[in-house]
Amino acid sequence: MAATAQVLVVEDERDIAALVAYHLTKEGFRVRTVGSGDDALEAVRNERPDLVVLDLMLPEMSGYEVLQEMRRRPELQEVPVVVLTARRGEADRIKGLELGADDYLTKPFSPQELVLRIGAVLRRARAAPVSGSGRMLRSGPIQVDLSALSVTVDGEPVELTPTEYRLLVSLIERKGRVQSRRQLLQAAWDIHVQIETRTVDMHIQRLRSKLGDAGELIETVRGFGYRFKGSEAP
Ligand code: CA
Repeated sequence: MAATAQVLVVEDERDIAALVAYHLTKEGFRVRTVGSGDDALEAVRNERPDLVVLDLMLPEMSGYEVLQEMRRRPELQEVPVVVLTARRGEADRIKGLELGADDYLTKPFSPQELVLRIGAVLRRARAAPVSGSGRMLRSGPIQVDLSALSVTVDGEPVELTPTEYRLLVSLIERKGRVQSRRQLLQAAWDIHVQIETRTVDMHIQRLRSKLGDAGELIETVRGFGYRFKGSEAP
């Protein structure tokens, strides 16, 4: 369960790092804090935390660079990241999500909210295969192995974040049917967490680009949501 998960907190402001560590420890998480991007990457590589809370405003190497580096490395790619930022700008939000953050909180944030978000991200990351083991979902060139939680397009592996994976499975399982952003949020995120529906768009955008030409199978239904092309599964 989430209660024994190890969380790496990357934050150079000691007061905030201590506050976050206090609340996470109280919830039963094992917590380590580091204050720089270099230390963060080293800790992620050596300790393989279950989740990283990453401040974007760090000295020297920025949080963006840490995230970019993590998403570039196959062995670190799947570690969920919740980003913290003092910036409220929409551009920052989009940039964070495009780089593969799983969730995003703007300072000042409530520690309780952070704990809820972390719990939700961890549940998603650890969610059991949607329906039984050994099951495969196939649609055109896309193949999803529901027990290995892996995806290939034309036989080539595609590395997806847990959020992108759950979005793809949700779309393919309801192939041919339109799903609203709200429905996709509930499928891929946690229903109790307030996330803007815009977030869905950002993740879909990244998912499409990772799927290459097969990304065109995910249709935008204007004013409503998304649909995976094809006829409904029998
Ligand atoms: Ca900072």
